[in-house]
Amino acid sequence: MKKIILTGDRPTGNLHIGHYVGSIRTRLAIQEKGDYEKFYIMIADTQALTDNAKNVDKVTNNVIQVVLDYLSAGIDPEKTCIFIQSLVPELFEITSYFMNLVSVARLKRNPTVKSEISMRGFENTIPAGFLCYPISQAADILAFNANIIPVGNDQLPMIEQTREIANTFNSTYGEVFTLPNAVLPEIKACERLPGTDGKLKMSKSLGNCIYLKDSAEEIKQKIMSAYTDPDHIKVSDPGKIEGNVVFTYLDAFCKDEHFAKYLPDYKNLDELKNHYQKGGLGDVKVKLFLNNIMQETLSPIREKRAQYEQNIDKIYEMLFKNSEEASKEARKTLEKMKEKMALNYKNFAKKG
Ligand code: ATP
Ligand code: MG
Repeated sequence: MKKIILTGDRPTGNLHIGHYVGSIRTRLAIQEKGDYEKFYIMIADTQALTDNAKNVDKVTNNVIQVVLDYLSAGIDPEKTCIFIQSLVPELFEITSYFMNLVSVARLKRNPTVKSEISMRGFENTIPAGFLCYPISQAADILAFNANIIPVGNDQLPMIEQTREIANTFNSTYGEVFTLPNAVLPEIKACERLPGTDGKLKMSKSLGNCIYLKDSAEEIKQKIMSAYTDPDHIKVSDPGKIEGNVVFTYLDAFCKDEHFAKYLPDYKNLDELKNHYQKGGLGDVKVKLFLNNIMQETLSPIREKRAQYEQNIDKIYEMLFKNSEEASKEARKTLEKMKEKMALNYKNFAKKG
């Protein structure tokens, strides 16, 4: 089967290390392998407006920020098609037809949407667009017949809903869509990286992030004040690993060679964890070790970013060109859908 990949991000802020391990690293591995037909990366500005309608500037200004984050993290614009959602109007036409195939009750059951609604305090003021964003996300994926979707695990309910919509369309009107599959990161800790405050998810909207563009000082300050085990007060106290974000970040980023380089008293992460759990290992030592690893990981990204920042015009040009290409591709799918739906008035005119 032809591999068509689609993934994306909401331009609600800069990308953070949760994005990096949850989805960007998977994208880089796919890009490196190169065994795909097409690799789309969508900046979901319209989706971001569903809960930022009164904050359009925030969304539009962050489009370039997210693209700069991609490029500096190693996404290659020659090997991928990075485009802007709102420049592909076909996606919204496709969304309209899908809206009729999903019940409001089903949308309200979506666990990610449910938790996002409570997080944003929407209760009785949920914008209709926000409730429906999983439908528009299905349109984004199915418009390109994408079958591989690299995501963090908060997106699994969206992919499930997309598969349901594809099935319903196919069985109602005729086969148009293949069913997409989510690709989760290989390391469990990366499926949903917690925030520095210990909250379940690092999220731009929660302000608990280490950003890819953070300065060396910001990174260190965030790591040194990150949530660990509140009961680990004295160095001699036994410490907990579960829910301790410093160890979760080590799970996500640490390799054995980092010990040889920065903490030669230990061979690997298991040894470090055992010592911490037994007692006798202080948070500061573990945090300084993590800081070394994060500085090593993030400083090349920050340096590349400074170069790309000199080429903003070129980057926009690339985005416009790619968005046109994406629009042509989405139009083909839209035409196929209309054909199957018998929503083709030209045929009616011919029949007379
Ligand atoms: P927002 O708060 O505006 O929703 P976000 O931080 O959740 O922003 P998104 O743009 O919604 O980021 O997510 C983009 C991609 O990054 C998705 O595939 C999502 O699963 C993944 N992702 C986001 N946060 C994390 C995280 N903390 N850990 C792992 N993956 C994540
Ligand atoms: Mg999100």
